[in-house]
Amino acid sequence: MDIGKLQITPLGGLGQFGMNITAFRYDGQMIIVDCGMMFPDEDLLGVDIAIPDLSYIEAHREELVGLVLTHAHEDHIGAVPFLLQTIDLPVYTTEFTLSLVEGKLQEFGLLDKVKTHTIRPREKFKLGPFEIEFIRVSHSLVDCVALAIHTPVGVIIHTGDFKVDETPVMGDAIDLKRLNEYGDQGVLALLSLVFYWLMIEAQGESLQRREREILEAVNEPGDE
Ligand SMILES: [Zn+2]
Repeated sequence: MDIGKLQITPLGGLGQFGMNITAFRYDGQMIIVDCGMMFPDEDLLGVDIAIPDLSYIEAHREELVGLVLTHAHEDHIGAVPFLLQTIDLPVYTTEFTLSLVEGKLQEFGLLDKVKTHTIRPREKFKLGPFEIEFIRVSHSLVDCVALAIHTPVGVIIHTGDFKVDETPVMGDAIDLKRLNEYGDQGVLALLSLVFYWLMIEAQGESLQRREREILEAVNEPGDE
């Protein structure tokens, strides 16, 4: 059997905060995972937002089969309308993430032009040579997922942003059972966003307590 080549190309987010975007390409077909923006620091004075260089994607526009989004933080979805205003691409994500993406598409006059699909955790869908399953993860936001990307050469786990938290302040608990099952079956590669996880490891309980305190403070009714 002729086995093709899988190419994983980070177009942003690697070694930097923000602009998370990765291309997966196999046998002349390509999916994009996340498409975020970055809020520049003082080095880029006067620049409000930065978006990834999309020229690689534009050069392969005929090969694109879908855009998959892990969660609704700006560093994962902020550049979506900039991509979709030049390239016609269906979007696959969770219900909450899609609701925020639709707001952005509306702003850019793209809402009626873009095909969108709501996917639930543990649901699988096919995009070209890839079959993708959403796996629930905990994070500082609701409706966040990791991806199990089945390719003809093996399974890739893309974690998105996550923390290992079985009693999260916000959103649902991470689906460790499903991740374990993938571990038992064998995974070709793990693409993991580790910074947040390391921060939790380093600060442990205190960080979670602070998160709860902040949320309680925000939710407390103010003086009338
Ligand atoms: Zn995030």
